[in-house]
Amino acid sequence: MFGIDVLSLLLLLIAAVTSDVTDNELDDSCDLSSDLLTEIESYGPTVETIINSVLNGKFKGGTYNELADFVDKFGARLSGTQNLEDSIDYMLALMNEYDLENVHGEDVEVPHWLRGIEVGEMVEPRTAEIEVLALGSSVGTPQEGIEAEVLVVRSFDELDEANFSAAASGKIVVYNYEFVSYGVSVAYRSQGARRAARYGAVAALVKSVAPFSMYTTHTGQQAYEDNTTQIPALAITAEDAAMFQRYQDRGEKIVVKLNVTTQILPDETSRNSIAEIVGSEQPEKIVLVSGHLDSWDVGVGAMDDGGGAFISWYALAVLKSLGLRPKRTLRAVLWTAEEPGLVGAYAYNTTHYDELDNHTFVMESDEGTFTPQGLIYTAGTRGGCILAEIMKLLTAINATQAVYSSGGVGSDISIWTNVIPGGSLLNANERYFWFHHSEADTMDVLNPDDLDKSTALWASVAYIIADLSEEFPRDFNRTTADLTKSELMKKVMESVAANKIKLL
Ligand SMILES: [Zn+2]
Repeated sequence: MFGIDVLSLLLLLIAAVTSDVTDNELDDSCDLSSDLLTEIESYGPTVETIINSVLNGKFKGGTYNELADFVDKFGARLSGTQNLEDSIDYMLALMNEYDLENVHGEDVEVPHWLRGIEVGEMVEPRTAEIEVLALGSSVGTPQEGIEAEVLVVRSFDELDEANFSAAASGKIVVYNYEFVSYGVSVAYRSQGARRAARYGAVAALVKSVAPFSMYTTHTGQQAYEDNTTQIPALAITAEDAAMFQRYQDRGEKIVVKLNVTTQILPDETSRNSIAEIVGSEQPEKIVLVSGHLDSWDVGVGAMDDGGGAFISWYALAVLKSLGLRPKRTLRAVLWTAEEPGLVGAYAYNTTHYDELDNHTFVMESDEGTFTPQGLIYTAGTRGGCILAEIMKLLTAINATQAVYSSGGVGSDISIWTNVIPGGSLLNANERYFWFHHSEADTMDVLNPDDLDKSTALWASVAYIIADLSEEFPRDFNRTTADLTKSELMKKVMESVAANKIKLL
């Protein structure tokens, strides 16, 4: 299946960084006509209606309550599991209940990796349990387990130094890197095992990719490379990584025992979940709003990405109930299998290839639904000017920023960077990576008011873009013709090489 091919390429080289973000200072260079400015301003009362209905009216608390019902019923929703499919059935029924249109699932072949037993124990210089959490796609240990000496490195550069690389053979390599940002530091998670394996290491223990820890382990996808032994790749806590470092710096011998079982099962059929409000004048033109429904198998995926998925379909539910049908079609997509590598998005790109030119704007929320501040977007200059004007209408919820990102936005929609204009929810997500991919990703991370505001913003922005007389401008050099299967693969390689792809 196509997505898997791209996935393997993507994961071989994945090294994400944060986008190059600059504040929008377009106002001076914008030359939108007074007619267009007046038209955008005329949506003020509509935005007010949306905000009032979501913050004070019949939809108040609705996004949170529906999401809580969902995650309490299904918990974690790992790619390839029956539970994910049951949760998709539930969502299709729910979106029908809310009277959304053309509700359906679209088949996607997805990976099925399963975690099993995970036991870590330090036996020297003292005995202690060590919390370990296998990274996605990791192999297990041999049945008898692994008992080996530990070698701690602070960076890939340190590992590559002769005295460290020579010492790595037969050892368990611990990565005690300094956390810089998710985008930079995630390289230790995605590449740590294969780089240690090149020097003959028998397992890799990677400090969890997070800026803060209360003895928390964080999973996430990792990838092996051809011609290198596949060794267990496990996350450990920041606390244990630092402790191992102290032992090593004192010259003390560290020995760890690992017993881990994982399984890679045959691919399964999953589905992207789709619902629409069909446009009144140009139904073939599409504004897409999205989040991913799958999650890792720890926590319940309330934040990543229940919040993003739920503000997306719920925004359409609000608009439908208010009788707000825009000229173009609004399409909510709840992606499947984002976590193992944007698998649902690649499948959508293939299935909907013939209508990509009709996708005028794509939106995705996958970096938290905390207090919204505006929109972070990738678009040409004129598109940026239009977004800046639209965001001015969101003063009532203090979410008026329009921030340009040259490096693309979103995770799933990043496959269309600089081809289709797109936007993600800009929100006060400083704590996002505290909870990300860990047991701590629960409903407690979210609150009803922030979700209401996020839904109101999402509904307002999507509605206006879908309804404006001017189609959202697509000022990019690339076109959807560049997104044929082979071209997309090339594009993914370029994006990875330029550190522009993010797996969130
Ligand atoms: Zn996510």
